[in-house]
Amino acid sequence: MSQAILSVRGLRKNYGGVPALQGVDFDVARGEVCGLIGPNGSGKSTLFDCCTGLQKSDAGSVLLKGMDITHWPMNRIAREGRLLRSFQKTVVFPTMNSEENLVLAGQMARFPGIASTFSVGATSRARVKALRERARELIEVSGLSRVAHLPAGNMSGGQQKLLQFASMLMPEPELVLLDEPLAGINPILIEKVIQCIVSANKDHGITFLVIEHNTDVLMNLSHRVIVLHQGQKLADDTPEAIVRNPQVVEAYLGG
Ligand code: ADP
Ligand code: MG
Repeated sequence: MSQAILSVRGLRKNYGGVPALQGVDFDVARGEVCGLIGPNGSGKSTLFDCCTGLQKSDAGSVLLKGMDITHWPMNRIAREGRLLRSFQKTVVFPTMNSEENLVLAGQMARFPGIASTFSVGATSRARVKALRERARELIEVSGLSRVAHLPAGNMSGGQQKLLQFASMLMPEPELVLLDEPLAGINPILIEKVIQCIVSANKDHGITFLVIEHNTDVLMNLSHRVIVLHQGQKLADDTPEAIVRNPQVVEAYLGG
């Protein structure tokens, strides 16, 4: 795959005697939404840990935009790779409204880009204007328009979650790794998070790698799905082929 934004080769990770990853290979193409599924304990989160520098792998390599990041520290991977992971806590400021929150999220980005006011000068009007426009777009896409004027602290828990999700997209990362983004949220919110992902992907070219147990949603959202089983890649195919793959059905989907 010539357009790979992320390439994982022969990745291995043991925790004590427990093999979490046993030689995993895959590519994520720039611009795609790639799903990652597998039973509990199959190594999905460990894979994210090794790609983001949170854990050191024992063997193998990770390439991000062609750069060998295998031994890079976490903050360098995030900054130079423009890679974000969902659990990196985004703070919602309760006295600020949605637009103010989002503009601030863009200003606080750890990597430079069109949305970062740190890269050229914090007072640049053009940058603040660009941030405001992006914030308004995200407010609309995430369905927060009706409550966007409220201080975030007065919005519902679900609305605050959406605002957090939108804040993560403000600095325009190139690759976002989402670990169960829909866990514990209601169906309406699920729909809106999906809209944010689809719009970020289609309109801004942001690439996503998504771990998610809600198989119906994931199959609809993903262009391609990778299946992990006991620390190994079991399948890597279109969603249509994955749901019909007998090995995948037996290991995971069959329940
Ligand atoms: P998944 O995200 O697919 O549920 P994990 O990557 O969390 O799987 O776990 C894979 C295996 O590695 C499991 O056996 C788990 O118990 C083990 N594991 C994960 N993280 C750690 C850790 N920090 N320390 C020790 N063992 C771990
Ligand atoms: Mg996990």
